[in-house]
Formats: sequence, structure tokens, C-alpha cells
Amino acid sequence: MENINWSDLTFGYMKTDYNVRAYYRDGQWSDLEISESEYFPIHIAATCLHYGQEAFEGLKAFRGQDGKVRIFRMRENALRMQSSAQGILMAQLPVELFERAVVEAVKRNIRFVPPYESGASLYIRPILIGTSAQVGVKPASEYLFVVFVTPVGPYFKEGFKTTPVVIFREYDRAAPLGTGIYKVGGNYAASLVAGEIAHEKGYSAVLYLDAKEKKYIDECGPANFFGIKNNTYITPKSSSILPSITNKSLMQLATDMGMKVERRQIPLEELSTFEEAGMCGTAAVISPIQRVDDVDNHHSYVFSPDGKPGKVCESLYKKLRAIQYGDEPDKYDWVTIVE
Ligand SMILES: *Cc1c(COP(=O)(O)O)cnc(C)c1O
Repeated sequence: MENINWSDLTFGYMKTDYNVRAYYRDGQWSDLEISESEYFPIHIAATCLHYGQEAFEGLKAFRGQDGKVRIFRMRENALRMQSSAQGILMAQLPVELFERAVVEAVKRNIRFVPPYESGASLYIRPILIGTSAQVGVKPASEYLFVVFVTPVGPYFKEGFKTTPVVIFREYDRAAPLGTGIYKVGGNYAASLVAGEIAHEKGYSAVLYLDAKEKKYIDECGPANFFGIKNNTYITPKSSSILPSITNKSLMQLATDMGMKVERRQIPLEELSTFEEAGMCGTAAVISPIQRVDDVDNHHSYVFSPDGKPGKVCESLYKKLRAIQYGDEPDKYDWVTIVE
């Protein structure tokens, strides 16, 4: 691409050429529509505006050394969006339509997929919203699905590094039997205040405890948590955590590397026994945790006194990135090559 300085990209928004849309009306989905507009008209009584009928996804496409463009695990995102739709009573999008929309959005904007050497990638953002007019509290009868893309910079501009996170007991992100397991905008609205306070204080994220007992690790704002000890990858089991596709992939890679994998409750105090800890998600793959500050108890759990990422975090990070960029064989069929 002629005018983009790939190395200056951040995790922001840049206009691309096209987005892809589908409409749900009269009980069925339309075919895909290609749009050049960044806008859509919306009814003032649309349910997404009043009652939070909104779900989204986030995935990436990568350009390999061979020049090919690879989309990572899009079927998983399609399935998760179906689960989110079910969770807040929206029309479900067929997996095949979701996949076709994502591939189409990438193809039409192929000039925005950053070159291999830049370490940047193309972020893909599907959204699903209730659009029909409704003032009583009821699900909409019409829905809009949009996929847009935007190039984003490498998450670790100055190299893979650790950051501190913080525990605040006075905020919850999601209720134990609430919508935490769905990727819906409402969960993010609920986490903005705590997130902003954490950022002002120099933390990269809030580490939430379980909302009911405040005893167990839940998740890290927009990322899943994992800890490493005794050659074991340990990640929380909870009814309020978003099932991260990155986490799922890392569990597979940890197994391949000969590690044990445990998905179970993690009592807060167990943090003192972890050799490494990290947050995982599409944006960063892994963001290793320098320390967790339990500010209410004036206690810090330190994983990296010198600020360097642990060995296991680093190997898992490199392994997953290598598959995404096509440097290593895709033995689990995680990657879709855009022809
Ligand atoms: C999207 C998201 C994640 C990360 O999921 P990935 O599929 O790995 O990108 C983790 N937690 C929350 C709350 C999320 O919304």
C-alpha cells in the first residue's frame, strides 16, 4: 500500500475501502452486500440503542513471508457469535455466511493487509445489532450484521514485554450467571470505569475476581488469565469468563510442548505459587504480567522482578505467532488462506 507507514500503526481505526453487510428481515438473512460507506442509517427506537442488543467479534488476518494472507480460526469466531446471539436473543448468523463475509471483507481490502516484515496485521471486526423499532423490552425482529477491517500495528512495538495489573474489589465486570460468557458490548460498558481508573494508575488492565465470593481469579478486562507453574498451564474455570480463542489455542500448544493443562478455579492466593502469568487475546496473543497489585490488601504478587517475560510465555507467544504468519505448519487447520 502506497501511503501507509505500517510501523506507525497503533490499535486504532483507519478507513479501508469496503465493508460487508447482511440484513435479517422476515425471518431470514439477506445475501451479502458490499458497501463503501462507513455509516448506516438507524431507527431511533432500534433495540441496540436502548436495550443493548449488540454483539461483536475480533479476529485477524496476517500476511506471511510467502505473501499469502491467512485468517486465524474464523470458524471459532462464527460459532462464538452464534452463542452471543443466543445469549441476548438476537437472530443467529449461519457459520457459512459469517465466514463468507469475513473472507470477502479481507479480499476487498487486501491492500490494507500489512507486509510480513512489519509485524502488523489486519484486524477484522464483525458486529451484530438489533435494528427494528421497539420501545417495550423485547428482542428486535430485524438485525444488521457488518464486517469491517482496519490495519493495526504490532502490539509490542518495543518488543515483547510485561505490564502490571490491578485488583479492585469494588467493581465487577460480569455477574456469575450474567452475560460474561458472551461477547457483547454491555460487558464492556460495565468495565469502562474500572478500566480507566486502572490506566490512570499505570496498570494495563483490571484483574477481576469472581463477583460472588471475590475469592477466585476471573478475567483480565478484555483478556483471559493464565498462570504457569510446575510445567503446567492453568487457566480459570468460571461462568462469567469469555471463552477466548487465543486461550483455547494456547492450551493446545502447551499440551504439544509437553505441559499439563488445567482449567479450574484459581484461588487468589495461588498467585504466589505461579512462576509466570499472562493475559491472552487476539490483540496481543499474550501480554505477560509483571505483577498483580492487590491494592485493598497492600500486597503485590510479582512474577517478573526484572520486567522480562518468562520463558514459557515467550515460547507460547512465538509458537502461536509462527502459525498465524505461516512460518510453521498449520497442523490443526486453524488458518484460512485467502485466495
Ligand atoms: C474477546 C475477548 C477475549 C479474548 O478472546 P480472543 O478470542 O482470544 O480474542 C477475552 N475476554 C473478553 C472479555 C473478550 O471480550
